[in-house]
Amino acid sequence: MHSVLPNILAGSLRSEFKTVQLMTNIYCKAHHKIAQHAVSSPDTLKPNGKLCEQCVDFLEYALLRLDRCPYGENKPTCRQCPIHCYKPEYKAMSQTIMRYAGPRMLFTHPILAIKHLLAERRPVPMKPTAGASNRHKRKQRINNK
Ligand SMILES: [Zn+2]
Repeated sequence: MHSVLPNILAGSLRSEFKTVQLMTNIYCKAHHKIAQHAVSSPDTLKPNGKLCEQCVDFLEYALLRLDRCPYGENKPTCRQCPIHCYKPEYKAMSQTIMRYAGPRMLFTHPILAIKHLLAERRPVPMKPTAGASNRHKRKQRINNK
């Protein structure tokens, strides 16, 4: 499978986004009538093939949240996180997608699924340290050039 990931995320955030992409892909394929309102998603947002507009929008939102997560690479899983940065409608969509695709991913992508399950068991970091977000580090890298 070819997945073109946006290169703005680093390390564990990158693999977390990959997991979200896969789950959204599984969910969209099963639930949304792609044929009716198919859009070619931007290259960065297609794990394989086409997602509907709604799911592309969701992925763009998820990417933005990951980039700005104040925990950065120390990010706990979203379910454990005390911050709850998602807007209610996206949060609901995320839960629906995870609930459907999570168990299915265990068979298609066991390594990513198990990584996520293990992450759920890690203790939640107390407080994000200043400047830990991917976005902050990304800007710093640019400034240092
Ligand atoms: Zn969809």
